[in-house]
Amino acid sequence: MGSSPIIGFSIHLGTVAPTDTGSIPPWVSTGHAIPVLVEPKTSGEPYWSGWALAGDSRATAVASHDGVTVLLAGELYHRAELGSVVGETADGLSDAELLLACWLRYGPSGLRLCNGRFAAVVAENDSVVVATDHAGTIPLYLRTRPDGVDVATEAKVLAEGAGDSFPAPGTEPAPGLTGVRRVQAGTAVTLVPGSTVAEAARTWRPPHHRLIVSPDEAVNRVADVLDKAVRTRLGGPHDPVTAVLSGGIDSSSVVALASGGGRPVRTISLGTDIGDEFAAARVVAEHLGTRHHEFRCSSEELVRQLPWAVAAAEIVDAEVLEYLLPLVVLYRMVPNEGTRIVTGYGADIPLGGMHRTTERLHSLDEVIAFDMGTFDGLNELSPVLGSMAGHWTTHPFWDRDVLDLLTALEPGLKRRDGRDKWVLREAMRELLPTATVTRPKLGIHEGSGTSSAWSQLLRRVGVAESDLASVKTAMAAVFHRRTVREQEPPGEVSFDDVLDEVMSEQNLAVTR
Ligand code: AMP
Ligand code: MG
Repeated sequence: MGSSPIIGFSIHLGTVAPTDTGSIPPWVSTGHAIPVLVEPKTSGEPYWSGWALAGDSRATAVASHDGVTVLLAGELYHRAELGSVVGETADGLSDAELLLACWLRYGPSGLRLCNGRFAAVVAENDSVVVATDHAGTIPLYLRTRPDGVDVATEAKVLAEGAGDSFPAPGTEPAPGLTGVRRVQAGTAVTLVPGSTVAEAARTWRPPHHRLIVSPDEAVNRVADVLDKAVRTRLGGPHDPVTAVLSGGIDSSSVVALASGGGRPVRTISLGTDIGDEFAAARVVAEHLGTRHHEFRCSSEELVRQLPWAVAAAEIVDAEVLEYLLPLVVLYRMVPNEGTRIVTGYGADIPLGGMHRTTERLHSLDEVIAFDMGTFDGLNELSPVLGSMAGHWTTHPFWDRDVLDLLTALEPGLKRRDGRDKWVLREAMRELLPTATVTRPKLGIHEGSGTSSAWSQLLRRVGVAESDLASVKTAMAAVFHRRTVREQEPPGEVSFDDVLDEVMSEQNLAVTR
């Protein structure tokens, strides 16, 4: 794991020799461009042409051996274990080389061994496998054409001139785009470029069973697996890291584990004029001795950056955008010190944290099962949220081992003694102040006042309460059309113009 992996790529795999690798549009993630050009060694293999983006110009994107070529964006988190089964020490191998070694031993099943944050393309003979990690944390899109297949980690790259992609198994239509398809989470799709031959294999599914373990054992297991997920994400014990800290139990846990052993941690918190969690974050920062920074953004300024959130997440769901907006804004405000960013995002899904007042264990477990069955395609963990501002982000709570354990624990360990996320709070009791361990959950959109910020701005221009939701939904669709389908740089999309367009479409009057 380097401190800055391959951020993303756009690749054409075709039957015709390419003339060049194409240019990188200005509206994708920022990074160093690495041209990718691979000639077939024997007839039948595809030509590769395109580019990868990396934080470091010396990064390698592609690994090749024995007729197998691997392109990997992202990173693997259990390198030592993988090394032990492929008969090599992982030291000195890039993640692409490690995946290649795994493939050479196990074939496509090797993808089932990988715990990481990655999107991969592997070519062997005339077929190509495109694969996401267990949770699809790096979104992966494809477009099939008569002369090959285009694969990219940002849908906007494929939007132009997209015709009809055939509905390959293991893929779904990307929202708002015809002819672009998204590879599902935990899925490997095998394609033959230029044909409609395709099949899909699952590499992971959220567990449906529940484990009965003693409360003590559950607490110990959660502490261990989370500690490992944090450590394997952060490089050497003295490599500095940045953490987005709200002062809630999830982000505070990550900061506590990251700073154990003396690692220098910079913590950052966002607030608006409507709300902040600064006091709670400060308690944690002081307790753990982090270098702490507070960023304040007016709620109006925050909402006006919605085009950036849409361009990054490439989704049209207004509610999810409200969760992601504060992070996108914070990433854009934070000076880039070359450290990776770690977050507490996603803990609530396997632990049922959003359902903080649910008393019935059956109901709690049902919402956990529902949320674990419906996360795919929301792109909440997309690296583009950070990489648009040049940051690499990673999420220990969605480590495959952490997610497996947290999801599978029986719900009585999640809701216990009248508390939500009980098992996590207990696991962190020794590392954090009591006030933090017992602090009730506050969603990011609540703490920073995002939902109310968007609503407030709409109310101010005369949108009735009953129209708020439909105006937000319509605005999200227009932001998506302009920044993703029409590839306008998000900085050039005016919030007010989009609002005017939506209001007139819905026959509503704007009062400014
Ligand atoms: P939440 O929706 O509160 O679970 O937030 C998800 C993650 O986003 C947290 O675990 C933090 O890492 C981060 N986060 C939430 N709110 C803030 C904030 N106000 N400032 C900085 N980071 C935050
Ligand atoms: Mg929170």
